[in-house]
Amino acid sequence: MQRIEQHYINGAFVASHGQDTADLHNPATEEVIGTVRLGDAVDAERAIAAAKVALPAQAARSVAERLAMLGRFRDAMAERRDALHAAVLAEYGAPAARSRWMVEHPVQVIDDAMRVLADFPFQRSVGQAQVHLLPVGVAGLVTPWNSNASFICGKLATALAAGCTAVVKPSEMSALQTQVVMEALHAAQLPAGVANIVNGLGQEVGAALSASPDVAKISFTGSTATGRAILRAGAETFKRVTLELGGKSPTLILADADAQTAATLAVQAGFINSGQACVAGTRILVPESRRAEFEDALAAAVQAVRSGDPNDAATTVGPMVSERQWQRVQGYIRTGVEEGARLLAGGEGRPEGLSRGWYVRPTLFTDVRNDMTIAREEIFGPVLCVIGYRDEAEAVAIANDTPYGLSALVIGADEAHATAVARQIQSGRVLVNTLRHEPLAPFGGMKQSGIGRECGAWGMEAFLEAQTLVVG
Ligand code: NAD
Repeated sequence: MQRIEQHYINGAFVASHGQDTADLHNPATEEVIGTVRLGDAVDAERAIAAAKVALPAQAARSVAERLAMLGRFRDAMAERRDALHAAVLAEYGAPAARSRWMVEHPVQVIDDAMRVLADFPFQRSVGQAQVHLLPVGVAGLVTPWNSNASFICGKLATALAAGCTAVVKPSEMSALQTQVVMEALHAAQLPAGVANIVNGLGQEVGAALSASPDVAKISFTGSTATGRAILRAGAETFKRVTLELGGKSPTLILADADAQTAATLAVQAGFINSGQACVAGTRILVPESRRAEFEDALAAAVQAVRSGDPNDAATTVGPMVSERQWQRVQGYIRTGVEEGARLLAGGEGRPEGLSRGWYVRPTLFTDVRNDMTIAREEIFGPVLCVIGYRDEAEAVAIANDTPYGLSALVIGADEAHATAVARQIQSGRVLVNTLRHEPLAPFGGMKQSGIGRECGAWGMEAFLEAQTLVVG
């Protein structure tokens, strides 16, 4: 049992004012493996005050000083790969391929922020004006459980690179990962107060950040419902906001696609991070002219997926993060059947042979209409929908008929044609015949998938305000 008792405020581990605790579970066994002490609004205020005091010095630090600071943070995270891996396995149950990525990615995102900072133009000339890009102020950084350490590191590194100071409100379900990041920050000996972390619930610590007049900006990754609450709360003090929210991403398989290749890629896109991914391609659009062939290939690909013990190298889908999430996914599978969709693979209940652990059967529905609940709402589990289309115009219309717009995948043999189709999809990111991610390109959602962009120079600008200076 690990007991996480302290927050990280003003360069030190400190006792919590909030006295409630939450249990931490191993989703593969359902066992309680630890507890986390939950901070409250007082803890949040202490952290905000420390960040406010540390802000002028951080804003004044040179690029070289900020790079040195981030380099120490990166190295400290790299040194803690084993500890982070143990945390990711214990509290999240990510299968091997994913858990390795979840350990490397936090280091990579700090590196990415350093690359952007190294030659970022903080001063520019426009006609007769000089434009200075200034740190926006104290930033509140709020992260979800599905990749907690990566989101903390990416947001924090970018905020510090921009000259901001920060208070992080990590997911309360990911306290083991957060603890590793706190220890890395402490080992990196960053100036006191530039980076603070307060464990706690969203309605308490998160809400305190959104409401505080001393917090200039919220960078949030999580659900669309919470994003909306933050936007409302932040309006009072005109917060700058970056919101990375949910998705219901389309995978558009074109009529010239090879069935095997398309099915493999589509299922990988749908089951990324055990289906608990904002970018998961959960609506698979197939041409009616080849529907049966694509359904067979997709069903075979889903049936081949191993959902089970994350320690087993053959497993690609691990447990859902919590019992609540497991129940939610089961509910959607039930709704899919009730609304008339037809199961091609999976269904309710646990995979065969597993009597405990929050495991879901990898599930594929067909005969799905785009107005069914399972095609409209983010399920956040390994549940995919096949939707037929008659021609490409209808395919693009279905792809775009969603409140979301985070990611999309187009698969086709003629790459130029597939790219032309991709350009018609209203989505912050569109991939063509690949799942590769470009870390320096802007990442974020259109429509209700978010506001603003993270990553690369775009991510940095989100922590800056432009000041125009005209002299003489
Ligand atoms: P969530 O919205 O429930 O919680 C996210 C964070 O917000 C947590 O730290 C939570 O404590 C906090 N929070 C809750 N209420 C709050 C409030 N009123 N004020 C401030 N903070 C509050 O999301 P989750 O269940 O942890 O994560 C899953 C969601 O995240 C999915 O919808 C997924 O699509 C989304 N997500 C989006 C991206 C992206 O980049 N677009 C990436 C990963 C996950």
